[in-house]
Amino acid sequence: MKRFAALAMLCFLLLSGCTARTEDHVFFAMDTLITLRLSGADEEDFRLAEELAAEIESSLSRTRAESGTSRINNSENGIPDADRHLQTVTELSLRIARETDGAFSPAMGALTDLWNVNGGGPVPAQEAIAEAKSHADYRTFTAAESSVAKTDPAAKLDFGAVGKGYAAQQMVLMLRQSCDWGLISLGGNVGVFGEKPDGTPFKIGITNPKDTSAPIGYLLIDEGFVSVSGDYERFFEEDGVRYHHILDPETGYPADSGLSSAAVWSRDGARADALSTALFVMGAQKAMEYYNGHPGEFEAVLITNENEMILTPGLTWGETFLPAGDSVENP
Ligand code: ADP
Ligand code: MG
Repeated sequence: MKRFAALAMLCFLLLSGCTARTEDHVFFAMDTLITLRLSGADEEDFRLAEELAAEIESSLSRTRAESGTSRINNSENGIPDADRHLQTVTELSLRIARETDGAFSPAMGALTDLWNVNGGGPVPAQEAIAEAKSHADYRTFTAAESSVAKTDPAAKLDFGAVGKGYAAQQMVLMLRQSCDWGLISLGGNVGVFGEKPDGTPFKIGITNPKDTSAPIGYLLIDEGFVSVSGDYERFFEEDGVRYHHILDPETGYPADSGLSSAAVWSRDGARADALSTALFVMGAQKAMEYYNGHPGEFEAVLITNENEMILTPGLTWGETFLPAGDSVENP
């Protein structure tokens, strides 16, 4: 009996020894730092995750000439041979564009090129914006099986608002096969899976738009993805005005909806990413109408320009005060 107990103890120690090791792995892809915190992972898992991120980037990137997205953008009418990532993301993006009445649009390429927010502007001429806007209609694109077609040769896809959430989701789907639990963070998107040994939920910090060095609070989540779109993420200033990177497809100008940030939780990573952009463009009132019309699909934290917070009822929100030793993950 004693021997059995000792054996059982040894097995327990060995097993927990294997499962308890948590490792961080950081690498660069998709224009952003990607952080993996995984329990029970080995070198092969990290290698495969990097390979997957590179594969998705080489499909969705619009700065790489050989990507499927660039081939569509440079074509007259589209391409017949989109790979599976491009196919999935195009179909989902067009669906969400329809559902959000174009607040999220995957066809913003002509406008984002013109604004060049990452390159520091300048503010384009009004006529140039109107011209680019006339080539930024998602309805000129259709996707069917492996082909993506467009009726406007000048229209350009831009998956900047959905690609990283999609990548987070694909990585979670892969890593959950071999790891006990994990957290994946890439440029404003976090995905989590599994259960931590202490059974506590994951804490995802939400940045204070008025003081980006500190979280305004945090979300407690057991599963799924959180994406944040904020006017403080990427912008340039001209004549004292801030021009940020989330454009309103209706106006062709940076969205001015009264929100400074929109965070979305969803079980689907690509949807969380696309919807954070859509809700930011819609503004608080329309966003809440959209939320009420799509029960069970997502939850959201909206922060207004006055730093007022609006939380949807399905969320668990933590105080800014944290017990010593506790940590928060930033999307
Ligand atoms: P980030 O990329 O900083 O996480 P978002 O997910 O909100 O932020 O994506 C913003 C990017 O998406 C922009 O840099 C641009 O490439 C593209 N974009 C801008 N406005 C829109 C829009 N209304 N719908 C879809 N994509 C957009
Ligand atoms: Mg987004």
